[in-house]
Amino acid sequence: MTAIELVLAPNPGPFTGPGTNTYLIESKGEALVLDPGPIIPVHLDAIRVALTGLIPVGVAVTHTHPDHAPAANGLGAELDVPVYGFAPGDGFEPTARLEDGFPIGFGANRLVAVHTPGHTSDHVCFRLGDYLFTGDHIIGGSTVIIEDAAAYMASLEKVAALAPARLYPGHGPQLPDARNVIAEYIAHRVQREQEVLTALRSGATTIDEIVDIVYAGLDPNLRMAAVFQVRSQLIKLRDEGWVVLGAGNAGGATTVRLEERPGV
Ligand SMILES: [Zn+2]
Repeated sequence: MTAIELVLAPNPGPFTGPGTNTYLIESKGEALVLDPGPIIPVHLDAIRVALTGLIPVGVAVTHTHPDHAPAANGLGAELDVPVYGFAPGDGFEPTARLEDGFPIGFGANRLVAVHTPGHTSDHVCFRLGDYLFTGDHIIGGSTVIIEDAAAYMASLEKVAALAPARLYPGHGPQLPDARNVIAEYIAHRVQREQEVLTALRSGATTIDEIVDIVYAGLDPNLRMAAVFQVRSQLIKLRDEGWVVLGAGNAGGATTVRLEERPGV
Protein backbone atom coordinates (compact mmCIF):
# COMPACT_ATOMS: atom_id res chain seq x y z
CA MET A 1 0.00 0.00 0.00
CA THR A 2 1.43 3.30 -1.10
CA ALA A 3 0.77 6.50 0.79
CA ILE A 4 1.55 9.91 -0.63
CA GLU A 5 1.94 12.76 1.83
CA LEU A 6 2.14 16.39 0.76
CA VAL A 7 4.35 18.80 2.68
CA LEU A 8 3.74 22.26 1.20
CA ALA A 9 6.75 24.57 1.23
CA PRO A 10 6.06 28.13 2.44
CA ASN A 11 7.28 29.78 -0.76
CA PRO A 12 4.13 31.03 -2.53
CA GLY A 13 4.54 33.41 -5.46
CA PRO A 14 3.60 34.22 -9.06
CA PHE A 15 5.64 31.26 -10.37
CA THR A 16 5.17 28.82 -7.47
CA GLY A 17 1.41 29.07 -6.82
CA PRO A 18 0.69 28.19 -3.18
CA GLY A 19 4.31 26.96 -2.85
CA THR A 20 6.40 23.95 -3.85
CA ASN A 21 4.81 20.55 -3.30
CA THR A 22 7.23 18.30 -1.47
CA TYR A 23 5.97 14.71 -1.51
CA LEU A 24 6.75 11.85 0.83
CA ILE A 25 6.11 8.66 -1.10
CA GLU A 26 5.72 5.83 1.39
CA SER A 27 5.51 2.07 1.24
CA LYS A 28 5.96 -0.56 3.95
CA GLY A 29 7.52 1.89 6.39
CA GLU A 30 9.98 3.30 3.85
CA ALA A 31 9.78 6.77 2.35
CA LEU A 32 11.32 8.74 -0.49
CA VAL A 33 11.31 12.55 -0.38
CA LEU A 34 10.52 14.16 -3.74
CA ASP A 35 11.39 17.83 -4.43
CA PRO A 36 12.40 18.97 -0.94
CA GLY A 37 12.33 22.56 -2.22
CA PRO A 38 14.34 25.58 -1.16
CA ILE A 39 16.34 25.62 2.07
CA ILE A 40 13.69 26.94 4.46
CA PRO A 41 14.24 25.77 8.07
CA VAL A 42 10.54 25.45 8.97
CA HIS A 43 9.93 23.44 5.80
CA LEU A 44 12.83 21.11 6.53
CA ASP A 45 11.44 20.67 10.04
CA ALA A 46 8.04 19.79 8.54
CA ILE A 47 9.70 17.18 6.30
CA ARG A 48 11.53 15.70 9.32
CA VAL A 49 8.24 15.52 11.26
CA ALA A 50 6.53 13.82 8.30
CA LEU A 51 9.35 11.27 8.19
CA THR A 52 8.88 10.33 11.84
CA GLY A 53 8.62 6.56 12.18
CA LEU A 54 9.60 5.97 8.54
CA ILE A 55 12.87 4.75 7.10
CA PRO A 56 14.10 7.29 4.52
CA VAL A 57 15.42 5.68 1.34
CA GLY A 58 16.27 8.65 -0.87
CA VAL A 59 15.74 12.24 -1.89
CA ALA A 60 14.83 12.89 -5.55
CA VAL A 61 14.29 16.05 -7.58
CA THR A 62 12.29 16.62 -10.75
CA HIS A 63 14.67 19.37 -11.89
CA THR A 64 17.21 21.79 -10.51
CA HIS A 65 15.22 25.04 -10.25
CA PRO A 66 15.69 26.94 -6.96
CA ASP A 67 12.16 26.17 -5.76
CA HIS A 68 12.69 22.41 -6.08
CA ALA A 69 16.24 21.22 -5.51
CA PRO A 70 18.42 23.31 -3.15
CA ALA A 71 17.43 21.42 0.04
CA ALA A 72 18.16 18.03 -1.53
CA ASN A 73 21.87 17.57 -0.88
CA GLY A 74 21.74 18.73 2.74
CA LEU A 75 18.73 16.56 3.48
CA GLY A 76 20.24 13.57 1.68
CA ALA A 77 23.44 13.92 3.73
CA GLU A 78 21.49 14.32 6.96
CA LEU A 79 19.38 11.22 6.25
CA ASP A 80 22.36 9.35 4.77
CA VAL A 81 20.46 8.38 1.60
CA PRO A 82 21.10 8.76 -2.16
CA VAL A 83 20.16 12.03 -3.86
CA TYR A 84 18.58 11.31 -7.26
CA GLY A 85 18.54 13.79 -10.13
CA PHE A 86 19.00 13.89 -13.88
CA ALA A 87 21.89 16.37 -13.87
CA PRO A 88 23.77 18.75 -11.58
CA GLY A 89 22.49 22.31 -11.34
CA ASP A 90 22.75 25.43 -9.22
CA GLY A 91 23.27 24.25 -5.63
CA PHE A 92 22.49 20.65 -6.57
CA GLU A 93 24.70 17.64 -7.20
CA PRO A 94 23.02 14.25 -7.61
CA THR A 95 24.77 11.31 -5.95
CA ALA A 96 22.74 8.98 -8.20
CA ARG A 97 22.17 10.14 -11.78
CA LEU A 98 18.77 9.39 -13.27
CA GLU A 99 18.14 8.54 -16.88
CA ASP A 100 14.92 7.80 -18.72
CA GLY A 101 13.45 4.57 -17.34
CA PHE A 102 15.67 4.52 -14.23
CA PRO A 103 13.81 2.63 -11.47
CA ILE A 104 13.93 3.49 -7.77
CA GLY A 105 12.61 0.58 -5.73
CA PHE A 106 11.61 0.74 -2.05
CA GLY A 107 8.95 -1.00 0.04
CA ALA A 108 6.55 -2.42 -2.54
CA ASN A 109 7.06 0.63 -4.79
CA ARG A 110 8.83 0.98 -8.07
CA LEU A 111 9.19 4.62 -9.01
CA VAL A 112 10.39 5.10 -12.60
CA ALA A 113 12.03 8.26 -13.96
CA VAL A 114 10.56 9.64 -17.19
CA HIS A 115 12.80 12.21 -18.88
CA THR A 116 10.59 15.14 -19.88
CA PRO A 117 12.73 18.00 -21.22
CA GLY A 118 11.03 21.29 -22.10
CA HIS A 119 10.44 23.25 -18.87
CA THR A 120 14.15 22.58 -18.39
CA SER A 121 16.43 20.15 -20.22
CA ASP A 122 17.07 18.22 -16.98
CA HIS A 123 13.41 17.70 -16.07
CA VAL A 124 12.08 14.27 -15.11
CA CYS A 125 8.64 13.09 -14.07
CA PHE A 126 8.26 9.97 -11.93
CA ARG A 127 5.78 7.22 -12.67
CA LEU A 128 4.38 5.10 -9.87
CA GLY A 129 1.85 2.64 -11.28
CA ASP A 130 -0.76 4.88 -12.89
CA TYR A 131 0.26 7.93 -10.88
CA LEU A 132 2.64 10.48 -12.35
CA PHE A 133 4.63 13.00 -10.33
CA THR A 134 4.97 15.84 -12.80
CA GLY A 135 7.19 18.50 -11.15
CA ASP A 136 6.96 21.61 -13.33
CA HIS A 137 6.14 19.71 -16.52
CA ILE A 138 2.45 20.00 -15.63
CA ILE A 139 1.26 21.99 -12.62
CA GLY A 140 -2.11 22.43 -10.95
CA GLY A 141 -4.17 25.46 -11.88
CA SER A 142 -1.84 27.08 -14.42
CA THR A 143 0.43 26.52 -17.38
CA VAL A 144 4.21 26.44 -17.03
CA ILE A 145 7.17 28.40 -18.33
CA ILE A 146 9.09 26.51 -20.98
CA GLU A 147 12.68 26.74 -22.16
CA ASP A 148 12.33 24.59 -25.26
CA ALA A 149 8.91 24.57 -26.95
CA ALA A 150 9.64 21.68 -29.33
CA ALA A 151 11.05 19.45 -26.59
CA TYR A 152 8.18 20.42 -24.30
CA MET A 153 5.55 19.39 -26.85
CA ALA A 154 7.31 16.05 -27.38
CA SER A 155 7.41 15.51 -23.60
CA LEU A 156 3.67 16.25 -23.32
CA GLU A 157 3.02 13.61 -25.98
CA LYS A 158 5.31 11.24 -24.08
CA VAL A 159 3.37 11.53 -20.81
CA ALA A 160 0.06 11.37 -22.71
CA ALA A 161 1.18 8.00 -24.07
CA LEU A 162 1.77 6.75 -20.51
CA ALA A 163 -1.95 7.40 -19.87
CA PRO A 164 -1.58 8.13 -16.15
CA ALA A 165 -4.78 8.25 -14.10
CA ARG A 166 -3.71 10.95 -11.63
CA LEU A 167 -1.06 13.66 -11.61
CA TYR A 168 0.86 14.92 -8.59
CA PRO A 169 2.27 18.28 -9.72
CA GLY A 170 5.14 20.31 -8.30
CA HIS A 171 2.75 23.20 -7.60
CA GLY A 172 -0.98 23.41 -7.04
CA PRO A 173 -3.56 20.71 -6.38
CA GLN A 174 -3.50 17.06 -7.43
CA LEU A 175 -5.05 16.46 -10.85
CA PRO A 176 -7.29 13.39 -10.77
CA ASP A 177 -8.46 13.89 -14.37
CA ALA A 178 -5.00 13.33 -15.87
CA ARG A 179 -6.05 12.50 -19.42
CA ASN A 180 -8.01 15.74 -19.87
CA VAL A 181 -5.38 17.86 -18.16
CA ILE A 182 -2.65 16.60 -20.51
CA ALA A 183 -4.92 17.09 -23.54
CA GLU A 184 -5.64 20.66 -22.41
CA TYR A 185 -1.94 21.37 -21.99
CA ILE A 186 -1.27 20.15 -25.53
CA ALA A 187 -4.18 22.19 -26.91
CA HIS A 188 -2.94 25.28 -25.06
CA ARG A 189 0.53 25.03 -26.63
CA VAL A 190 -0.95 24.58 -30.09
CA GLN A 191 -3.20 27.61 -29.51
CA ARG A 192 -0.31 29.79 -28.29
CA GLU A 193 1.70 28.89 -31.38
CA GLN A 194 -1.23 29.85 -33.59
CA GLU A 195 -1.58 33.15 -31.71
CA VAL A 196 2.10 33.95 -32.32
CA LEU A 197 1.68 33.25 -36.05
CA THR A 198 -1.50 35.35 -36.13
CA ALA A 199 0.33 38.25 -34.43
CA LEU A 200 3.04 38.06 -37.09
CA ARG A 201 0.49 37.98 -39.90
CA SER A 202 -1.18 41.07 -38.40
CA GLY A 203 2.09 42.99 -38.67
CA ALA A 204 4.10 42.38 -35.47
CA THR A 205 7.84 42.56 -36.23
CA THR A 206 9.52 42.09 -32.82
CA ILE A 207 9.13 39.80 -29.82
CA ASP A 208 7.87 42.79 -27.81
CA GLU A 209 5.14 43.45 -30.35
CA ILE A 210 4.12 39.79 -30.36
CA VAL A 211 3.93 39.81 -26.54
CA ASP A 212 1.77 42.97 -26.64
CA ILE A 213 -0.73 41.17 -28.87
CA VAL A 214 -0.66 37.61 -27.51
CA TYR A 215 -0.45 38.60 -23.85
CA ALA A 216 -2.56 41.80 -23.98
CA GLY A 217 -3.33 43.11 -20.48
CA LEU A 218 -0.60 41.04 -18.82
CA ASP A 219 0.62 41.91 -15.32
CA PRO A 220 3.90 43.83 -15.98
CA ASN A 221 5.65 41.61 -13.40
CA LEU A 222 5.11 38.64 -15.73
CA ARG A 223 6.34 40.36 -18.89
CA MET A 224 9.86 38.90 -18.78
CA ALA A 225 8.34 35.42 -18.55
CA ALA A 226 6.07 36.17 -21.53
CA VAL A 227 9.04 37.35 -23.59
CA PHE A 228 10.84 34.13 -22.65
CA GLN A 229 7.79 32.06 -23.70
CA VAL A 230 7.38 33.79 -27.04
CA ARG A 231 11.11 33.43 -27.71
CA SER A 232 11.02 29.67 -27.09
CA GLN A 233 7.94 29.37 -29.32
CA LEU A 234 9.72 31.35 -32.06
CA ILE A 235 12.82 29.17 -31.86
CA LYS A 236 10.58 26.14 -32.47
CA LEU A 237 8.93 27.95 -35.41
CA ARG A 238 12.33 28.99 -36.76
CA ASP A 239 13.61 25.41 -36.59
CA GLU A 240 10.49 24.29 -38.47
CA GLY A 241 11.06 26.94 -41.15
CA TRP A 242 8.12 29.21 -40.30
CA VAL A 243 9.97 32.36 -39.21
CA VAL A 244 13.32 34.10 -39.45
CA LEU A 245 14.75 35.67 -36.28
CA GLY A 246 16.90 38.79 -36.54
CA ALA A 247 20.47 39.06 -35.33
CA GLY A 248 21.21 40.13 -31.76
CA ASN A 249 19.08 37.27 -30.56
CA ALA A 250 18.36 38.66 -27.08
CA GLY A 251 15.57 40.66 -25.44
CA GLY A 252 12.13 41.59 -26.67
CA ALA A 253 13.54 43.83 -29.44
CA THR A 254 14.67 40.85 -31.53
CA THR A 255 13.14 41.17 -34.98
CA VAL A 256 10.96 38.42 -36.36
CA ARG A 257 9.51 37.90 -39.81
CA LEU A 258 7.41 35.19 -41.33
CA GLU A 259 9.18 33.01 -43.83
CA GLU A 260 7.60 33.02 -47.27
CA ARG A 261 6.09 29.60 -47.67
CA PRO A 262 4.46 29.05 -51.02
CA GLY A 263 1.07 27.44 -50.65
CA VAL A 264 0.76 28.04 -46.90
ZN1 LIG B 1 10.86 24.83 -12.40
